Amino acid sequence: MGADHPTGTTAVDDPLRHVTVREAAGERDAFYLAHLWSRWFGTEYEHGDRYSSGRLPYPLCRVAGWEVDAEPDHLDAYGVVVEHDPSDRDCVVQIGGGLVTIDTPAKTMESLPDGGFDAEALVGDRNAWLWFGVVDESWRGLGLGRRLFERRLRWARDQDADMAFAFGWEHDGRTSRPLFEAFGFVPVERFQRLYEGDRDVCPECGALPSNDATCTCAGVVWAKSQ
Ligand SMILES: [Zn+2]
Repeated sequence: MGADHPTGTTAVDDPLRHVTVREAAGERDAFYLAHLWSRWFGTEYEHGDRYSSGRLPYPLCRVAGWEVDAEPDHLDAYGVVVEHDPSDRDCVVQIGGGLVTIDTPAKTMESLPDGGFDAEALVGDRNAWLWFGVVDESWRGLGLGRRLFERRLRWARDQDADMAFAFGWEHDGRTSRPLFEAFGFVPVERFQRLYEGDRDVCPECGALPSNDATCTCAGVVWAKSQ
């Protein structure tokens, strides 16, 4: 590095040069996303047999490529994974991922918390839901969360979603607000305890499957007209 590289970044030290952001496909990706969803939000899936009798939340069956009896709530689903493939090691490591579904109006009404807003007026015909977008701690701050957003929103547009929704988690002054605003989302309502009584896993506030606590973090309902 020197005067030739005023930005301080060369091809050699670019931290993202072995990182790929791609569509999730197949069972390995589907179970990785299930793991993220479960670890961060307590969404249940059965641990154990990964490839034969393992169970997945319905939208992830689509990602795994499994045939499922169609339930009308989730019309379609799309996952994205972030992978690191270091050239000096023979392994590919998943370092982040996200999921988006297209949901029916009824399912969307059910997913929205009761608040001071008119849910019925907000809900569209085809509603994109960004369920989670998680990047491993050591890979944060490099724009990967933004790329998870981009990929999912692009897919949602291609699916003719007319609305997009997400819950923005807020904890200890940390907020995903700038990211939502950058993508044109508007805050519908902030809930001081959005997940209380419901989400029994939260690595941030100490809700664990082994205790009776539920998440006490704040959250914002975000919406975007596509
Ligand atoms: Zn929490």
